[in-house]
Amino acid sequence: MRERLLALYELQIIDDELDQLESQRGDLPQHVRELEQKITSVKGSLKAKELEKQESEQKRQLNVTEMERLDESQKKYKAQLYNVRNNKEYDALTKSIDQSEEEIRKRELENETLIEREKILAEEIESLLPGMQEYESELKDKESDLKQIAKSNERQEAKVREKRAKIESKVKKMDVSKYLHIRKAKDGKAVVTIRRNACGGCHNVIPPNRQLEIRKMDHLYNCTSCGRIIVPTEIAEGVSIEDLLA
Ligand SMILES: [Zn+2]
Repeated sequence: MRERLLALYELQIIDDELDQLESQRGDLPQHVRELEQKITSVKGSLKAKELEKQESEQKRQLNVTEMERLDESQKKYKAQLYNVRNNKEYDALTKSIDQSEEEIRKRELENETLIEREKILAEEIESLLPGMQEYESELKDKESDLKQIAKSNERQEAKVREKRAKIESKVKKMDVSKYLHIRKAKDGKAVVTIRRNACGGCHNVIPPNRQLEIRKMDHLYNCTSCGRIIVPTEIAEGVSIEDLLA
C-alpha cells in the first residue's frame, strides 16, 4: 500500500512540474492568435480603403482629361461662330457649346465629390496606421517571448515527460484513471497531504481518528469534502521534484 500511495504522490509531483512549465507559457499563445486576427482584420480594411482611394483618383484623372478635350472642342466651336453662314449653323454650334459646357460642369461636380471622399479615406487610413503598428510590434514581442520560453523549457519538459511515463507505469491502472479524473475536476491537484490537521487541497479539517487511519496506510483515502486522495505527510517528505528528475 505504501508503494501504491508513493507512486500516486510522485505522479502528482511530476504533473505539478509539467503544469508549471505549461503556465510559464501562460496566455501567450492565445494572445499571439488574437493579435494575428486583429492584424488581419485591420490589414483587410486598409487594403479596401486604399483601393477605393486609388480608383477615385483614377476616375478623377479621367475626368480631367475629358474636360481638357471638351475645353479644346469648345474653343473650336467658339472660333467657328465668327464664320457661320446661316442661323442653322449658328444654332447647331451654340447647342454644341452648351452641351460641352454642361458636360464639363458635370465632371467638375463629380470631381469635387471624389476629392471629398478621398480626403475622408485618407483620414481613415491615417487613423488605422498607428494601431496597426502597435499590434505588429506587440506581436513581435510576444512571439519572441514565446520562442524564448519554449527554447528554455524544451529540454526540461522532455525530461519530465520521460520520467512521468516511468512513474505512471508503476501506478495501478485503476488508480491512474481515478487520479486523472480527480485532477481534471480539481484544478490539477488530485493527491494532497495532511496540512495543519486539514486536507491540503480544500483545507477542511480532518478529525484525529481519521488522520490516524490515513497514517496506517492500509487504504486509499479520499477527502470527504473535496474527494482528493490524501496521503500521509511521511510519504511526501521523501519526495521532491529534484530527486525525481535526478
Ligand atoms: Zn479536501
